[in-house]
Parts: sequence; structure tokens; C-alpha cells
Amino acid sequence: MPVSAREQKLAIDGGTPVRTSPLPWELPGAHWIGDEERELVDRVLRSQSPFRFYGIDPQYMVETLEQEWCETYGHKHALAVSSGTAALSIALSALEVGPGDEVLVAGYMWVSCMSAIVRAGAIPRLVDIDDTFCMDVKDLRSKINSRSRAILLVHMSGAPGHVADIAELAREHGLGLIEDCAQAAGASQNGTPVGRFGDIATFSFQMNKNMTSGDGGMIVCKDEDLFRRIVAMHDLGYARNDAGRFDPEDETCQFWGIGARMSDLTGAMALAQSRKLGGITGAMRSAKWRIREALSAYPEIRLRNVIDPEGDSGPFLIMTFEDADMCSRFMAAVKAEGIHGPEGSLSCLPMRDWGLHWYFNIPSLTEKRSNTRDGFPWSHPDNAFASQINYHRGLLPVCDDLHDRSGLLSIASILSDADVDDIIRAFHKVAAAYFNR
Ligand SMILES: *Cc1c(COP(=O)(O)O)cnc(C)c1O
Repeated sequence: MPVSAREQKLAIDGGTPVRTSPLPWELPGAHWIGDEERELVDRVLRSQSPFRFYGIDPQYMVETLEQEWCETYGHKHALAVSSGTAALSIALSALEVGPGDEVLVAGYMWVSCMSAIVRAGAIPRLVDIDDTFCMDVKDLRSKINSRSRAILLVHMSGAPGHVADIAELAREHGLGLIEDCAQAAGASQNGTPVGRFGDIATFSFQMNKNMTSGDGGMIVCKDEDLFRRIVAMHDLGYARNDAGRFDPEDETCQFWGIGARMSDLTGAMALAQSRKLGGITGAMRSAKWRIREALSAYPEIRLRNVIDPEGDSGPFLIMTFEDADMCSRFMAAVKAEGIHGPEGSLSCLPMRDWGLHWYFNIPSLTEKRSNTRDGFPWSHPDNAFASQINYHRGLLPVCDDLHDRSGLLSIASILSDADVDDIIRAFHKVAAAYFNR
């Protein structure tokens, strides 16, 4: 279709934008909240039984959620918890990670990964990423040492990276493998759902994730004994009997709990959402891959390597440009064409503005902050080696480079075909101007 000179002029230069109404919010699950959530939550209220283990007339929503999660994704055991952050802390405790231990983790993650490691008393050993935006296998291999205890592998931005190779490496070296699937619920790789590669996997149901109950999370694992520890630790440190009451006599489960149970109200909402997860991720995936298809016309835009497109859960499109300047200009120009969500949403931005996802943007890490007066865990004698570790920018060259040159577009879960057309039109328009087409 012929385009007039007026339409060609970029909105950022005073031209007419491709669209003027904002795109929908990101927040994938939020748009899908409806009668199903209301019905299940209401059932808990009507039964006056918001606690998962016992009550006047318990509805066992959390238990049903856990059962269905196992059935749908093929996990052996699942435990719902109060958040993805708590899930990570519990997972590390269950693996007995503590002072003197290093946990290998990528420099592109979420702050919760670092806090879980530091709160456990262990030391984060940062690993670089590759073009999957997940952990780089070669760099991981080079950083494994005698203090390494576990790998915390984050499936960032909706899809896993080289997870099978990393699971192999973990087995070879006898390291625990925790998959952080907070950003990738419903994702898989070559037919295997995320969470089935490692010893333990965690999920989050916070509102920015693929499904939501406002807050919430899930821990899955294969091993029976490990699961018993996980259940005790998410609670008050003890096992419960069939009536849902504590069993402090059971000597295999006498620990320190974290108090991260999921209430049955949250469970009701999470259960309704979990039944929609395939629909939510399917919608994001198809919209995202239509846009990727259109962008494949431009060698100037390198798209994130998604190893198995069929298993991508789809919430983010990541593009890498020639240099930082082109990245900023391009993302700003696309945004000016009206490709952004409502005020306050974060939907079209250079990844430089992606805050606590990058290691050097986490002040409590770079400054080695402590929650206690004695400076724990940095001050612990078994962690003396950590005084040699510097977490400032410059540690991970690929991370630092991709941070500077990459842009991110959030894919809302209710984009119409016309919305996707607008996004594609905006990209073509900006590319035509900036790549001299
Ligand atoms: C969101 C997130 C978490 C934390 O989940 P919460 O439920 O917000 O505590 C952990 N890891 C990653 C990678 C996340 O994106």
C-alpha cells in the first residue's frame, strides 16, 4: 500500500503516530480474571474456610491446584506457597545450601534470586548469559569450583535457554539444580515442561507473571524426602498429619519454617487461573511470533534465540541492535508511534531501563549489604573467599553488552489482530527510516 510522506514521517519527529490509543497492559493473567475466579473464591468465602489445612468446611483449593499442576505438567510433587521469592529461599534451604557454598546464577535474573542466595548465607557466583538471554553453558563450566553447591537457573523472559546441557553439567558435577520458572510458567522445551529438568523448580503467581493470584508461587520436585523438607520448611518447620495438625514428634522434620503457606482464598484464584494458563500463553506466543516473523526482514535487528519456539510462553519480545545509541533511538521511535501500554506500564523500552533484572543494578549486591549488624553472610568465616568477588558492572561482558544494545517489548495477553498489525506497522515504519529502506 502506498504511504504518503506525511504518514512516513516518524511520530518522534512530529509525524502522525501509527496509533493513539494505548495497547493493553502487560500483566498476562490479570486480563483473564473473570467468573471462574469469582466462583471459586466465592466458594471459599461461603464455606467460611480460608485456611488450606482445616476449618469449618474446607474446599481444598490449594490441594486441587497442586494436584492439577502435577497432572498438567508431569511433576511428581507440587507445593503452593506465598510467593516466588519465598519459593527460592525454601528451595535453597531444602538443598542445605549455606555458608561456604557458592550458588551459580546468571547476571540477568530477578533480585529475588540474589536475595534467596544471600539470605541462605551462601555466596552468589555470577555467570554470563548468551543469545538466549539465559545462562551461558561455557561460562558456567568455567565458574564451577570446589565451593559450588547449586545452580540457580532462571528461565528469563518466558523461555528456557540451554537447560538440558546445564542439567547434564549439574549431574556431572553433583550440583543441585534449581529452575526458577517465575517468568516461564506454561513454557516447555522440546516437549518437556519447565521445572522437570532440575531437582527443584519454583514458580511465581505475582501479577506480572503468566498467571496470577495477585501473589503466590509454587515449588515442584521429584524426590520424596526433599519434598517432605520443602513442605515442613514452607510452614513452621514441622510435618503435618492427615488432619492438618503439626506432628513435632517426626524427627525427620524438625526444622525452622518460613511461614509461606498459601491461603485457600489465594488457592481458589490460582486454581481458576492455572486452568487458563495454556490459553494465556498461547495468545502471547502467537502474537509475539507474528511480530518476530515481520522483524526477520531486518538483519539490523537480532532477535533473541528461543531454542524451541513451540515452547515459548511468549510474554516478551527481545531485540538486539547494532549499538546502544541505535537501541535507544529505535525503541523511543517505536514507542512514539503509540506502541506502549497505558500510563505506568512498562511495555516498550531499552533493557537498560529494566532495573533489578541486571546484577550491577542491585545495590544490595554490589555493596554487599547485610540484614544483620554483623554483616552476615559476607562476614562469615566460611565466606572469606567472597571478599575477592566484586559484583559491579564489568564482570560479565555479554550481559553488559546485551544490556546496552537490547530492547524489550511486552506482549499483552489480549492483543487483537489489529493491535498486532499496528505493532508490525510501527516497526516497519521506524525500520524504513532508521535502516534507510
Ligand atoms: C518475579 C520473580 C521472582 C519472585 O516472585 P515473587 O512472587 O514476586 O516473589 C523470582 N524470580 C524471577 C525470575 C522472577 O521474575
